[in-house]
Amino acid sequence: MKSATAIAGLVSARVRDRMVDRVRELGVRDPRVLEALRQVPRHAFVDPALASRAYEDTALPIGHGQTISQPYIVARTAELALQDCADPKQAKVLEVGTGCGYAAAVLAQLFGTVISIERVRALHELARNNLRPLRIANLRLAFGDGALGVVGEAPFDAIAAAAAGEEVPAAWIEQLKPGGRIVAPVGVDDQRMTIVSKDTQGRVQRRTTEPVRFVPLRGGTV
Ligand code: SAH
Repeated sequence: MKSATAIAGLVSARVRDRMVDRVRELGVRDPRVLEALRQVPRHAFVDPALASRAYEDTALPIGHGQTISQPYIVARTAELALQDCADPKQAKVLEVGTGCGYAAAVLAQLFGTVISIERVRALHELARNNLRPLRIANLRLAFGDGALGVVGEAPFDAIAAAAAGEEVPAAWIEQLKPGGRIVAPVGVDDQRMTIVSKDTQGRVQRRTTEPVRFVPLRGGTV
C-alpha cells in the first residue's frame, strides 16, 4: 500500500500516533491491529471539511445518515476477528457495511482477502472513490444486502459487521467456515458485541461482550 503510506505522510505522524495511543488506552493491545490503524490514512475517508478531525477517536458523518465508525470500534472489531485465527494472511473475511470504506481498508491490512458489502449505492461508490488511490489489491467491494451474506464469495473465515441486527442473520452462520467466527453488534436499544464461533465439527457457540452503539442493519438496497 505504497500510495496510502504516501498520503498518510501528509498528516503529521504525531497526530496519527495519538489516535493509536488513545485506542490502546481504551484496551486494544493487539500490535497487528495498532499497526494497521497507523497505516491507513483515515482523513482520506472523510469529507475534506472534516479532515482536521479525522484522527479524533470519534464517529463522523459520511452522508446518507451514516457515519465512519470510531477508530476504537474498528480496532476492537478487528482484534476480535483476529482472535483464534490461525493464519490471518490466508483468511477470507466479509465485512458487512462498507460505509466510506475505512474499516475495510484496516481489515485488508490484517487479512488475506476482504470482501466488503454495502446496501446504499451512493456509499458503495463513495468507498470505491476513497479506496481507489490506496490500491489495496486484496480488498473487493460488493453492492447488496449484506444481511444475506455474499453467496458467491462464501465461505468466510470471519465475518465482521458494522451495523446491528436484532439477531445474527442465519446466512452469516451458514457462510462461515468451520473454525471461523462472526463479530457483530446485536440488539436494538441495548446492543452488545456478539461473537459467534463455529468449531471444526460445525457446532455453533455464541457469546456477548461489551455494550456498543452501531447504526441498524437494514434489509434491501437503496
Ligand atoms: N465500516 C464503516 C462503517 C459504516 S456505518 C466504517 O469504516 O466506518 C455502517 C454501514 O452499514 C452503513 O453505511 C450502512 O448503510 C451499512 N448497512 C446497514 N445495513 C446493511 C446491510 N444489510 N447490508 C450492507 N450494508 C448495510
